[in-house]
Amino acid sequence: MSRIAYVNGRYVPHGEASVHVEDRGYQFSDGVYEVCEVFGGHLVDERRHMERLQRSLRELRIREPMSRKALSHVLHETVRRNRVRNGLVYLQVTRGVAKRDHPFPGDEVEPAIVVTARSVDPRKAGRSGEKGIEVITVPENRWPRVDIKSVSLLPNVLARQQAEDAGANEAWFVDPDGYVTEGSSTNAWIVDRDGQLITRPADFGILRGITRTVVVELAEKEGLKLVERPFTVDEAREAREAFVTSATKLIMPVVRIDDAVIGNGRPGSIATSLREKFHTLAELDS
Ligand code: PMP
Repeated sequence: MSRIAYVNGRYVPHGEASVHVEDRGYQFSDGVYEVCEVFGGHLVDERRHMERLQRSLRELRIREPMSRKALSHVLHETVRRNRVRNGLVYLQVTRGVAKRDHPFPGDEVEPAIVVTARSVDPRKAGRSGEKGIEVITVPENRWPRVDIKSVSLLPNVLARQQAEDAGANEAWFVDPDGYVTEGSSTNAWIVDRDGQLITRPADFGILRGITRTVVVELAEKEGLKLVERPFTVDEAREAREAFVTSATKLIMPVVRIDDAVIGNGRPGSIATSLREKFHTLAELDS
């Protein structure tokens, strides 16, 4: 089946979908994005993703490309046209197309918007969940505004490639004091010897992951003890469990950090149980 992308008001065949050479997203990474999971044909946590998108746009003073309702329609329509039951929908908004110059263009320049959707085989995702993933640690080298979900992801791309080169699946950034900030595209968590969940507070230094927010609520509901504080790499290496969260990986157990095996080298019971229960608490559209 051919894939369809939404580009600035039109649904076009994916292979022909393109943006202008002077799109500021292309030239300056002057834009923001969101990735929502699609589960059984439903968009997962759309409301929270749209709220975060609005915040990212506001922080960068990019206009909203359309109303929330219209945007929701485009997201659903892109999912529908691509016949995605399980997978992802990707949305990107940039400051628009203008003669290349660093300052913002005038108000006549409309933001540019792209939406794509694709299927992901849930069995494949299930298998990684059962096996767990390996992470490496890398020095934090990103700008301080990582709370904005900007398309400027070069340090994240380089860190992730470093992980791939090392035979691992994710890289955790570590700040100069030895504390883990987050993964290249995930939030980082550990479970200590007392069974306490520990994750970095989301006020600054990390992206406030939507999956993270749902897992905080889920942990409370399950009566788990949760502490929002930074943790060190040494603590993580000694942890009973570790895991990462994101809309694409959901709750993914971590079984190795650099050369340290976590727990018994198999996904931990808390991470596995949170993974199984995630969709009971995430908001699914009707
Ligand atoms: N941190 C970073 C740097 C990310 O790119 C992502 C994924 N977008 C996350 C955390 C997890 O966020 P979410 O749960 O909203 O996917």
